[in-house]
Amino acid sequence: MSKSHFRVIHWFRRDLRLTDNPALHAASQAADEVVPVYVISPWRKNHHWTGAPRQEWLAGCLDSLEKNVAAVGGRLIFRRGEALKELEKLISKTKAEAVFYNRDPDPHGIKTEAGLEKLAQRLGIRAHGFQNATLHERNEILTAAGKPYRVFTPYRNNWSNLEKPAMVPTVTALVTPPGMASEGAPSLRDWDLKPSGISMPEPGERAARQRMKKALEEVLPHYAETRDTPLGPTTSRLSQDLRMGTLSIRELYHRASEAGRESDSSAVKKSVSTFISELAWRDFYMQILWHWPEVLEHEFDPQWRGLAWSYDEGDFGRWKEGLTGFPLVDAGMRELKATGLMHNRLRMVTAMFLTKDLRIDWRLGERWFSQALIDAEIASNNGGWQWSAGTGADAAPYFRIQNPWSQTRTHDPAGAYIRHWVPELKNAPLAALLNPPAEGKSAAPGTDYPPPMVDHKEAREATLEMFKKHRARQQGHH
Ligand SMILES: Cc1cc2nc3c(=O)[nH]c(=O)nc-3n(C[C@H](O)[C@H](O)[C@H](O)COP(=O)(O)OP(=O)(O)OC[C@H]3O[C@@H](n4cnc5c(N)ncnc54)[C@H](O)[C@@H]3O)c2cc1C
Repeated sequence: MSKSHFRVIHWFRRDLRLTDNPALHAASQAADEVVPVYVISPWRKNHHWTGAPRQEWLAGCLDSLEKNVAAVGGRLIFRRGEALKELEKLISKTKAEAVFYNRDPDPHGIKTEAGLEKLAQRLGIRAHGFQNATLHERNEILTAAGKPYRVFTPYRNNWSNLEKPAMVPTVTALVTPPGMASEGAPSLRDWDLKPSGISMPEPGERAARQRMKKALEEVLPHYAETRDTPLGPTTSRLSQDLRMGTLSIRELYHRASEAGRESDSSAVKKSVSTFISELAWRDFYMQILWHWPEVLEHEFDPQWRGLAWSYDEGDFGRWKEGLTGFPLVDAGMRELKATGLMHNRLRMVTAMFLTKDLRIDWRLGERWFSQALIDAEIASNNGGWQWSAGTGADAAPYFRIQNPWSQTRTHDPAGAYIRHWVPELKNAPLAALLNPPAEGKSAAPGTDYPPPMVDHKEAREATLEMFKKHRARQQGHH
């Protein structure tokens, strides 16, 4: 087959794989030679949207990608600096005729893509962007009036009726121009970060696909039943792979759907459809961010902008450390600290606790999660936080405040998750984990474990008051 170009660049971003990689596949079909490049961003120390755990995870995924690219005959080129500047230098050095890339739904990614399109025009080359991170993009799913959806269920119904993109063939051969200089692969030193000390899943494409296979066999068939149980293999645990693109969302979708079609069991079919609905949530939040990028600063629902949130550093610190005295909340925060991940139910419980029991601004929690999670995904994280705060698209209404004690009785009735993550509570009687202790008492007297930092009932009343006062003030203005 004759190729339309001699040499092109594939710019790797959040698509760190050879399997079902639309832009990389297209690049390999279009040109004799492909320069696969990853540009390591130049920021140092603190970053609003990421932290040591995710950068460590990224470095691991890149390490594995470098080997995978070499295994098919190519060479992954690393550059350090601003993406557009580095791409421009690389284009002129390699005389590449086009840049191939997969689109990134985050505002920063979109801005960089617009810059790349301009750069390509200026240099007289082509830039080819591909759909990749989502199953459906921004304007594929709109209401009958042509507007983006603000509510999940009608979005999902429309989403479910649309055919999903097919997978593309795995890239099995790459020729990188010989003798190309590359900088070294990144490590935490690049960003001036200290090792997080957490034990992570194995990074890279092969490990991600093994995890997927295992999840499809062992978790998916009973997902509808187990997904709210925080301990054990009860959910797929694939979010960190979807984040870096070591796993393709299309592959996950198609394989899960196939498992549903092949099964005769209505329970399995129900589980598959519940699971696929979660993938639709992921697309939903990404389209919210696409259409309303201001959610990164403001409440999605304008009526809740300017609430009198707290910024108490002491309270915030206790929440971060898992020392609130609420066993379930603390178990969640400690899971996060130890693994860079947290079960979805606990993300809701801990986010609701921060915003509704401590009345701390959801933006602080959102930021902490961004920095602590290895799967930190701007759209889902913002969506989850605004849902919990009661300010988001299709959020929990502000007056529906979860009670951490009844959440414990429902989702960790034997205290297994709590005991797993909070060693101080290992020997506490079950009743002490499920119910508030007497005033001023800890769930584990005689240990360092603190008494609950607030009374949930009183905190709930104060929060309702905060929301109601805000609304009254707003109505007074009109
Ligand atoms: C406050 C809060 C913050 C969150 N922050 C993130 C985040 O930074 N990154 C992230 O990937 N998810 C986030 N979520 C969503 C969800 O908690 C995680 O996707 C999930 O826990 C990942 O575990 P899993 O892969 O086992 O999920 P599974 O239950 O196996 O679901 C499969 C996949 O569906 C997607 N998914 C599942 N639930 C959601 C959801 N509620 N919203 C969007 N996508 C979903 C994920 O990609 C997930 O990997 C957040 C939720 C809340 C309430």
